[in-house]
Amino acid sequence: MAASPTPRGAPSRAGAHEPDGACGLCPRLKDFRDANRAEWSDWHNAPVPSFGTEDARLLVVGLAPGLRGANRTGRPFTGDYAGELLYQTLLDFGFARGVYDRRPDDGLDLIDCRITNAVRCVPPQNKPLPAEINACRPFLSASIEAMPRLRAVVMLGRVSHESTLRALGQRLAAHPFGHGRTHEVGRLRLFDSYHCSRYNTNTGVLTEAMFRDVFKQVRDYLDA
Ligand code: URA
Repeated sequence: MAASPTPRGAPSRAGAHEPDGACGLCPRLKDFRDANRAEWSDWHNAPVPSFGTEDARLLVVGLAPGLRGANRTGRPFTGDYAGELLYQTLLDFGFARGVYDRRPDDGLDLIDCRITNAVRCVPPQNKPLPAEINACRPFLSASIEAMPRLRAVVMLGRVSHESTLRALGQRLAAHPFGHGRTHEVGRLRLFDSYHCSRYNTNTGVLTEAMFRDVFKQVRDYLDA
């Protein structure tokens, strides 16, 4: 029997690290999902679950699914412009194998790596509100707790940086964001990167070389 949907505004399962498909914690995002479902009924149009296994040592935390990317395909960064650079870089540094073909059934496997988003549902204009980032954080905290071998976290952009540090109970003032910066939190080393968004790469805020440097640092750290 199908599970009954979570009523609007009700929390998803306590401690769960993926929101229910009908999560109603963020009314604006639920309305946006419903509107997208009415328009594109064959798209995912639901919270996008993390990709990769929980025994990975690396977690990559993005911002939120893109409308025609992860929100359509149901896999983080898949079909999104940002996924082109992310998946190629993961392949190049041995964190993925196979071919990234912008489809969740492309057979791409992550190796020792998991990918999630600070906000699991697509936000209008790619901009989650602070209340939505806060409402989704328990899923990020639970995702981190569910990874017993976790050693490294790559935080893509400031929203990811702030939400990850808050999820780990850290004061933001003690951990300023900066591309290429690292932060030690208990057994974890956190790596900051500018988000690999179309805007950042087209404006030169983030070059491919800058992005690769972050993953080179992660590789060296995990291999040491
Ligand atoms: N797609 C995602 O899943 N996350 C992002 O942060 C950007 C695109």
